[in-house]
Amino acid sequence: MFAPLPLQDGFDNAGMQIGLTDAEITGVLLCLDVTEDIVDEAVASGCNLIVSHHPLIFSPLKRITGATYVERCVMKALQNGVSIYSAHTNIDNASGGVNYRIAQKLGLENVKILVPKENALLKLSVYVPVAAADAVRDALFAAGCGNIGAYDSCSYNVAGYGTFRAGEGTNPFCGTVGELHKEEEMRIDTILPSYLKSRVTKALLAAHPYEEPAYDFYSLANAWESVGAGVVGELPEAADERDFLLKIKNTFAAGCVRHTSFVGKKVKKVALCGGAGASFAGAALAAGADLYLTGEARYHDLFSYDGKMLVAFIGHYESEQFTMEIFKEIISAAHPDIKVKTTEVNTNPVQYM
Ligand SMILES: [Zn+2]
Repeated sequence: MFAPLPLQDGFDNAGMQIGLTDAEITGVLLCLDVTEDIVDEAVASGCNLIVSHHPLIFSPLKRITGATYVERCVMKALQNGVSIYSAHTNIDNASGGVNYRIAQKLGLENVKILVPKENALLKLSVYVPVAAADAVRDALFAAGCGNIGAYDSCSYNVAGYGTFRAGEGTNPFCGTVGELHKEEEMRIDTILPSYLKSRVTKALLAAHPYEEPAYDFYSLANAWESVGAGVVGELPEAADERDFLLKIKNTFAAGCVRHTSFVGKKVKKVALCGGAGASFAGAALAAGADLYLTGEARYHDLFSYDGKMLVAFIGHYESEQFTMEIFKEIISAAHPDIKVKTTEVNTNPVQYM
């Protein structure tokens, strides 16, 4: 699955916002932000599902009286049978997500995650009779184990033997009740995202022939290199700082590109994060980036890069506008028969004069 919800950051509220989950989809309207105009557009165009990047409901609602635009959107969506789903930091953090798309638009190569996600991986060791090892391993892979970067089916297998004595009332797969038994076994080690733990446990227990399989999950201190915030990549050819900023301005149709002082060297390595990504500028500098691009930054975020790295910001909406392309590609590939419409409403609240 692409950008599963457990990849979202702790502060986020991605996922179903307003859900009539058993309704048949009549059409999908794609947007960055849900506003009343967007709900109106969905209704007028016969789309009963809105897929947005930014969650409509971010802070808990205590009442729905129509006092705020969020409450009015909730009311309007419910009255018109419109469901709303938001893919936010789960698609920001995904390999191939928002930041990969921005990197692609700028022609970056060798693109990698800038700040890989921590505390998100587990290691699983399971002990299996040799004859059942292939079946259990396959079941674990099918449940989502063994993916490292672009490699799948990764495991380490070591042969040994297990011992056990089956007690009264058991029905052992091998050996005899009441007698000490030795069985040739395989220990299979593999890796998985923490959020798949219960699914993997279920698959393991279903495939393992023993009544009481022995298995251990370990928390890993390794960062998850293919998931996380921002990306870093390289331009095929080093570019002049001013020329590259102009390319950014044109690519994103930005009303304004704000930036720190020119460093005076060519831009080759570029780090970026769509939206409000100023907090990752330090990571960009540590990664050796010549330029860090994000959507928005505060005044005090911009000190300490002078002479070291060019920081540019082009507007939150502008930086994330291509997210709608990703939505369209995924939905159209999975459900070619469903109508998918990109909004005609520009929801950017920021104007330039
Ligand atoms: Zn955003």
